[in-house]
Amino acid sequence: MLKFESAEFVKSAAGPEGFLRDGIPQIAFAGRSNVGKSSVINCLPRHGGLSRVSATPGKTAHVNYFALPEAGSRRTAAYLTDLPGYGFARVSAGEKQRWARLMEAYFAENEALRLLVIIVDARHEPKQDDLDMLAFARGRYPYLILANKADKLKASQKDMAVEVLRESLGTGAFLLFSAQTGEGRDSLRAALQRALE
Ligand code: GDP
Repeated sequence: MLKFESAEFVKSAAGPEGFLRDGIPQIAFAGRSNVGKSSVINCLPRHGGLSRVSATPGKTAHVNYFALPEAGSRRTAAYLTDLPGYGFARVSAGEKQRWARLMEAYFAENEALRLLVIIVDARHEPKQDDLDMLAFARGRYPYLILANKADKLKASQKDMAVEVLRESLGTGAFLLFSAQTGEGRDSLRAALQRALE
């Protein structure tokens, strides 16, 4: 069993030389900037508080690692990796290129990657960046689409929102989620557990 309550920040890598390649399984979180990636990781422990506060776009182009221990031992069962967000508008071409190189290097020969959690906004149709990320993941890595900010939908809007997202994202594991209320947290924890078995 994973001990989410004891997950903790390990390091932030600005480039491939800082990536962790020690064979320990990894679960990566990707999404457009501001979709709530840090908040989702942060809400995994019931009382929160493990994620680094996200900074302004441009400064977030780092891969942040969190160690997730196995219950009853000090062994790290997996790293949760917070990938740099995509789709931010006001960054330079150079910054975008740096982002692309960082992502490419992260995914290259990363055999430890067990699951890619692609976070989208539950309220909106997926953007092209989301579709690109999904297309990349398909056939390469097991993935889970997590539709965050579900608390912003009225109960009566939820079915329709899921239908719209499903329509463009296709079949595959899908989870309606709210980092704010904790809706979906238990399902996400179970999915991470399964991905490591
Ligand atoms: P990141 O850039 O993807 O890491 O996004 P953050 O985790 O920094 O969140 C971006 C903004 O969205 C912050 O203002 C969060 O408080 C807010 N946010 C994140 N998750 C949720 C959610 O589930 N519901 C609501 N209402 N706001 C959220």
